[in-house]
Amino acid sequence: MIQITKDTRLVILTGAGISAESGLRTFRDSGGLWEDQRVEDVATPEGFARDPKLVWRFYKTRYKAAIDAQPNSGHAALVILEKFLGKNFCLITQNVDGLHTKAGSTGVLEMHGTLYECYCTKCLAMYRTAEIDLDPDLPVCSKCGSMLRPYIVWFGEIPYHLPEIEGKLRNCDLLMIIGTSGNVYPAAGFVMTAKYFGASTMAVNLDTVANSDYIDEFHQGKAGDILPKLVEQWC
Ligand code: NAD
Ligand code: ZN
Repeated sequence: MIQITKDTRLVILTGAGISAESGLRTFRDSGGLWEDQRVEDVATPEGFARDPKLVWRFYKTRYKAAIDAQPNSGHAALVILEKFLGKNFCLITQNVDGLHTKAGSTGVLEMHGTLYECYCTKCLAMYRTAEIDLDPDLPVCSKCGSMLRPYIVWFGEIPYHLPEIEGKLRNCDLLMIIGTSGNVYPAAGFVMTAKYFGASTMAVNLDTVANSDYIDEFHQGKAGDILPKLVEQWC
């Protein structure tokens, strides 16, 4: 069993699975559909160019669901771990639902963006989603009148915070991946980078993961059950 102490430099990568117990659906386990939509239609720049109204409808619904959702015991366990490890703790998420922050985690690296922000497709002005008028089919920028888009990294776009993440992966002792299927790159490749630079790797997931060759210790089950037990043992 991998153990941690206060000196362990821990990097965590979470995916949609950690939010499943908060009632937000993952997409790999629903046949490649995300909330009944084809990913190509709602999570690519091409899909947005083709039908921006459909994409906006999709993200407005995701935003409202995220606002209503409550963090679960998996999110809460990571808050305890952050308090225990302090600056040795780094939390990266592929999720856009804001639940880690709602649970009390700080400095979360939201590599795929967040439902809580939007930006202008022309002048790039940033907005909190809460402050824009979501009633029109296509919300517009109050500065230049152009169409806004969700602050979400779609397939084919470059994730946020990659240089900082690369530095963390090269200098950690343990990388834990939680609730992520290991199919979406570059996040799926983080275990390879961490291992290459000498870290141990651990996965907590309901099903086997696609990048299992690079995982030293696998805990199969629900994040909401497993994480509180691990954290109780460690902290
Ligand atoms: P994924 O849907 O590809 O994989 C989720 C994994 O979580 C699966 O392997 C599944 O077995 C596992 N899982 C399901 N319930 C679990 C639980 N209770 N405990 C532990 N594991 C559980 O998700 P991904 O790898 O994060 O990739 C999905 C992409 O879609 C991401 O880029 C993300 O931005 C986006 N997405 C985000 C959300 C969200 O913000 N909540 C939801 C769906 C998709
Ligand atoms: Zn603008």
